[in-house]
Amino acid sequence: MSDYNEKEMKMMYPPYLDNREYLDALIDSRIRYVVNYAYNNIPFYKELFDKNKINPETIRTKEDLEKLPIITSKELIKNSPPLSKEFSFESEKGKGGFRFYTSGTKGQPKIFYHSRDDMKFMNEISSRAFHMAGINKKDVVLNCFPIGINVSGMATCFIFNEMGIKQIPAGVAPFPPKEQLIKTHKPTVLLSSGSYVDRLARQLMNNGTDPKEVGFEKVIIGGEASSLEKKKRIAKEFSAKVFDLYGSTEGMIMAMGCTKGNLHLMEDANHFMLYDNEKKEFIKEPGKKGQAIMTTLIPIGYEKGSVLINYKIGDSFEFEDKECSCGLKLRTITPPHRSDDAIVISGAKLDMNDIERLIYNEKMINKLTGEYEILVDFDEKTRTPILNIKLESLGKIDKFIGEDIKSNLINSNFPLANEISNGRIIMNVDSVEPGNLDVLKIKGKPKRIRYIKPI
Ligand SMILES: [Zn+2]
Repeated sequence: MSDYNEKEMKMMYPPYLDNREYLDALIDSRIRYVVNYAYNNIPFYKELFDKNKINPETIRTKEDLEKLPIITSKELIKNSPPLSKEFSFESEKGKGGFRFYTSGTKGQPKIFYHSRDDMKFMNEISSRAFHMAGINKKDVVLNCFPIGINVSGMATCFIFNEMGIKQIPAGVAPFPPKEQLIKTHKPTVLLSSGSYVDRLARQLMNNGTDPKEVGFEKVIIGGEASSLEKKKRIAKEFSAKVFDLYGSTEGMIMAMGCTKGNLHLMEDANHFMLYDNEKKEFIKEPGKKGQAIMTTLIPIGYEKGSVLINYKIGDSFEFEDKECSCGLKLRTITPPHRSDDAIVISGAKLDMNDIERLIYNEKMINKLTGEYEILVDFDEKTRTPILNIKLESLGKIDKFIGEDIKSNLINSNFPLANEISNGRIIMNVDSVEPGNLDVLKIKGKPKRIRYIKPI
């Protein structure tokens, strides 16, 4: 049973959640509010709407959003310093709050502003999310999300505080050692990225401690897409229930796994549509995978910091067509995957564009064909992901090419450099003889990133 009183429960589970019709009407009203708010307060949207001759008053429902242009992180980066003079995605209205950074690559992280009202709303939505996973006031949380300029650690610290839950804000720093923290505080919940939990299990075992014995009842993993195999292993090794948290800097906690193992969207905080990139149309029916297109929502009257409307967040998933036996009416989705053109491990992102930028460079034009593949492997013993990047040579193999590309990739990507220097990712870049790439032997659309083992 819940140890939250009636008032607290109502804050987390407002009555509109019990009725699909009410919920749909609420989403439409928040869309109307946010579109008008964006037009009147966010310079980027004022310009976008005027340029496309869109009257914000004509956007009244979820379906109307389909008439608006889709934007990407490129627009977000281009319209914030240092590339722009102004923060054009920000409202002047939202007071206080935080500007959070994504890890970013090429020295250009996304910057996203969450106002005081945004943080207040996040607390309401996220308290529900964690409560759905069965977390309550008796729990003690070991919070191993990075605490600092990224949103995940800071926001969750606020949320557990609001929920009246004791937490150890451990972050990802090596000191004090996690094992010591676990033994001292006996946390019942572990919050972390999948890779971090996986490494923690190995570390404990190496020190002669059985992860099963440390007392975690629930492990909540977020920050990157974790394979089903990895989740099963974590559950088994810690003898704990594993929950998925789907979050982002832009949308905070966007979906959470419930006690029945289904991933529910927080539909009152972000509206999602799915887009078929090839057919260039929105996907209506459940069970079809598409690119997630997000619109941030907020209660009427709240002053939002940054707003995103029809934003391609870079993940794909399917809507499921089922009613969850946990009783929540919030829609469920399949576990999101990063787009097919990027790999994300421990907060480090390797985008295919980063590789293509280097191999299509003039310097390489006489040395490489431009064909490449990334084989992702996993060293079970050390629990380290291995990225094997293979580039097709034009003629004789020049072994310096691989080294050159590798150092360029590392130098332009701080999170990746950090993971590699700490031994948490192994990356090999090699050029191979012409015709020696597997990707060229497979028929159909080339799949350049292939997983030999799940990471
Ligand atoms: Zn459920």
